[in-house]
Amino acid sequence: MDRLSAPDTPLLRRRQLLTGAAGAMVAACAAPQAPSRNGFATPAALSPLRLDENRLVRITVCSRPFRPAGPRLEAEAVDGKVLVHNYGHGGSGWSLSWGCAAEATALALADGHRRVAVVGAGVMGLTTALRLAETGAEVTIYAREFPMETRSARATGVWSPSSRVGLVDAVGPEFTGRWERWARASWATHQHYVGAIGDPVEYQPQFYLPEDSPGPRVHASRDFLHLDRQLSGLTPAWSEMPAAANPFPVKRASSGLTLVFNVAAYAQTLAAEFRLRGGRMLRRDLPDRAAVLALGEPVIVNCTGYAAGALFGDRTVVPVRGQINWLPPQPEARYGLIHRQVAALSRRDGVVVQYLGPNDDWGFGDDSEIPDHDEMSEALARLRPLFAPDT
Ligand SMILES: Cc1cc2nc3c(=O)[nH]c(=O)nc-3n(C[C@H](O)[C@H](O)[C@H](O)COP(=O)(O)OP(=O)(O)OC[C@H]3O[C@@H](n4cnc5c(N)ncnc54)[C@H](O)[C@@H]3O)c2cc1C
Repeated sequence: MDRLSAPDTPLLRRRQLLTGAAGAMVAACAAPQAPSRNGFATPAALSPLRLDENRLVRITVCSRPFRPAGPRLEAEAVDGKVLVHNYGHGGSGWSLSWGCAAEATALALADGHRRVAVVGAGVMGLTTALRLAETGAEVTIYAREFPMETRSARATGVWSPSSRVGLVDAVGPEFTGRWERWARASWATHQHYVGAIGDPVEYQPQFYLPEDSPGPRVHASRDFLHLDRQLSGLTPAWSEMPAAANPFPVKRASSGLTLVFNVAAYAQTLAAEFRLRGGRMLRRDLPDRAAVLALGEPVIVNCTGYAAGALFGDRTVVPVRGQINWLPPQPEARYGLIHRQVAALSRRDGVVVQYLGPNDDWGFGDDSEIPDHDEMSEALARLRPLFAPDT
């Protein structure tokens, strides 16, 4: 994640947490009966997330493809071919994918060509290739890594359209309007996948749990764009939880619904739709720009993500390291939270826990994709007290 799309916002109040046998649903009877009410009662009990280190399944790390000027989405004519770039989406690639795919498709087909190569099978490659195939174009994806091997498969999986998408002083004057069009178009298309087989996209309750005595806020050294306010009204609103409804052992909590991308199901669905429309996917490692341009198609769409920096000599691409710690799925506890700079999200393909750092500087310029076990231990340790049994 990027930050769960909460306003940087609490923990299950201990007596209301389910603390029974491992994996058991939180007992509904754990919540005390309210003496008398006039309205509908919402059960407050939540199943606890099980964050013991010995349940760790894997750690994945990836570099977000950050460009200070924002994603590169433009066409150029090279060696008689049309080369369309669609990369550099920072921490927003899943969120912005559909809007960018539509624009890349229009650029790719502008000259009337009907044979298109898409390089890359991450979220940008998949969505762009699908949009192209829907027009009846003959589309081939060439990729070194297939969908579940890509960096896209290592994302947190939440709606985060302005996460590390650019720097205030580096984007052009048109950028925020363009970003808003991408975000709104993407939001609309993500809705088509809510309720689809495998639940590729779904709404989940999320909680923001500030510390009772937070330390001073540490501001990022760079002025990252935060544009979510431009979308106000588009996404379900968050609100402060009444104390009686807050199950976490912290004083304040806010909650809302967030759009979650179950990445395994989403990538699989996109790849299947692409093939259904006649698309082909070939494994190919294209070592340099010349190899890309040597592909037989007259139109090539570059969706190589972080790798585009080296492949196309774009020195503005900066890696922003992000590490996800994976625990087994918990179908009985489908929600997410942020507390003490750590996010946890219970997706269908696993519970993902991520240390976010004090601000967006975290991971900036770091291209190491080696798992950091200390970071994992610290992230889990920060959240576990939220689920400690009442004493
Ligand atoms: C920790 C983390 C959490 C994130 N969380 C979120 C989130 O919650 N929500 C959100 O919207 N975004 C999130 N993001 C951002 C998102 O994951 C990226 O923006 C997105 O994955 C970029 O997708 P892509 O298709 O451009 O690149 P990639 O997924 O990197 O795909 C690139 C493709 O190009 C291929 N390729 C590259 N070079 C070559 C070559 N030379 N020859 C052949 N093929 C090549 C690769 O094999 C791959 O198939 C997160 C990122 C990180 C790191």
